[in-house]
Amino acid sequence: MARATAAPLADGEKIPALVIGSGYGGSVAALRLAQAGVQVTVVEMGMSWTTPGSDGRIFCPVLKPDGRSYWLRDRTDQPVGYFAGSSYNKDIERYTGVLDSEQFSGVRVYQGRGVGGGSLVNGGMAVTPKRENFAAILPSVNADEMYNVYYPRANAGLGVNNLDQTWFESAECYQFARVGRKHAERSGFGWTFVPNVYDFEYMKKEQAGQVTRSALAGEVIYGNNYGKRSLDKTYLAAATGTGKVRITPMHTVTAVSPTEGGYRVEMHEINTSGATVATKAVVAQKVFFAAGSIGTSKLLVAMKAQGKLPDLPDAVGKKWGNNGNVMVGRANHMWDGTGVLQSSMPCLGIDNWADAGGPAFAEVAPFPAGLETYVSLYLAITKNPQRGQFTFDSGTGKVGLSWQTSQNQYAIDAAKRIFDKINKKEGTIYRTDLFGVYKTWGDDFTYHPLGGCVINEATDNYGRIPGYSGLYVIDGSLIPGNTSVNPFVTITALAERNIENIVADDL
Ligand SMILES: Cc1cc2nc3c(=O)[nH]c(=O)nc-3n(C[C@H](O)[C@H](O)[C@H](O)COP(=O)(O)OP(=O)(O)OC[C@H]3O[C@@H](n4cnc5c(N)ncnc54)[C@H](O)[C@@H]3O)c2cc1C
Repeated sequence: MARATAAPLADGEKIPALVIGSGYGGSVAALRLAQAGVQVTVVEMGMSWTTPGSDGRIFCPVLKPDGRSYWLRDRTDQPVGYFAGSSYNKDIERYTGVLDSEQFSGVRVYQGRGVGGGSLVNGGMAVTPKRENFAAILPSVNADEMYNVYYPRANAGLGVNNLDQTWFESAECYQFARVGRKHAERSGFGWTFVPNVYDFEYMKKEQAGQVTRSALAGEVIYGNNYGKRSLDKTYLAAATGTGKVRITPMHTVTAVSPTEGGYRVEMHEINTSGATVATKAVVAQKVFFAAGSIGTSKLLVAMKAQGKLPDLPDAVGKKWGNNGNVMVGRANHMWDGTGVLQSSMPCLGIDNWADAGGPAFAEVAPFPAGLETYVSLYLAITKNPQRGQFTFDSGTGKVGLSWQTSQNQYAIDAAKRIFDKINKKEGTIYRTDLFGVYKTWGDDFTYHPLGGCVINEATDNYGRIPGYSGLYVIDGSLIPGNTSVNPFVTITALAERNIENIVADDL
């Protein structure tokens, strides 16, 4: 377990390497820099999720969310927020909880907050894209190296494992997935099992009633108390294990600018109400932006507009995409129940990527409501070519994202190519009560923000920011808006590739 160190970060410190954010990119950077002998400070705006609350749990129960669920909100904002015509969001105490739902004009973006970033809240689906898709998305990156070296390295570092397919066929908790597979097959669609970072052996024991339930208790978006190999248990634990990595939670970086000896990095230390309790500035020789697609893009766009990093390339803030995300639910017949007990970890996806008329990879998602809903739920990843752009508003001092919900129509059309066909074959209909009142498509939010600081455009081909020696980008903002599958393995593998080059050439 990676622990935030007791030694706090002091104002005025001089440090060799500072990493902003502790998600996938940040964790890889911290570990590999430390192994190369560099002292690393990781600055993370969220909490270190290591101390149980008064109920003995680190993370709150999914059906009874409290302040631990959301980042500084008074009410929950569930992705699937409606059922049978009414909202089932609940009032909560305002607290630095683990899941952020960040609202921009045309999209809300879900992100993990805390030591471990998105790994704390995500579905753990660890998908390596098909090689031809990778080559099309990131043509400047050598695909041979990625598939021979960096994807295997990332999968090993993340603790990715595969489910026991024999067990799957009879496991009560995967009835929803078997029903989803059956419907896909009956309509002629291909499908594939998907690896995960959730420990499937632990899940088997949950199903057998031998251990405390986590995935089988619906835990996922507000954190898993057991079973999940989140980054704090993998890369970050290895990083702090070197003795060279300090993690500083509850510190939000607000500015980076050149100064003598490197870069001045300004930050706010916050409390669990989100109030600033101290402001600090340190000087770092090297700074790694790993605040995620949204966090890194917002920081860099603001620094350019405010004249702190005026020479940043014009490509900064551009080519943002939602990985073509769209969600939808279907209403099954009474003989196709999806099960009262559902594992919160998805394990298979419908593969319609070869459909030139609208490629899509649709994960069969759980809907662990604790009762039989007869709902088949899906998260489709599509090849939506639409892109958004970050812009600085000098009036508010904030960075906005120009993206209209209508830009996601492509994703709906691609998903319809699968689910219209399945509905026709099964004689079923879409649910219209899950994403609003009479709203079929969950088209106005994303779990997969990507881009904003695209590799080989806003940076060199390894994430170096041109014109600012010692500044790097190493997270999902490097990827131009789409990965064709769930993104974190690709973010990790690309970070492994880039940091190896940086360690070899820049240290
Ligand atoms: C509910 C949900 C389910 C998902 N399921 C999957 C899945 O099954 N498979 C998959 O591949 N992907 C999934 N994802 C997406 C995946 O988690 C992200 O793609 C991934 O976390 C992005 O990695 P990153 O390193 O770019 O940034 P992040 O993991 O987002 O890390 C960035 C970190 O930086 C911190 N930060 C931001 N700004 C600042 C600042 N100014 N100062 C200090 N710290 C800052 C953040 O708090 C965060 O901890 C899911 C995401 C969500 C929200």
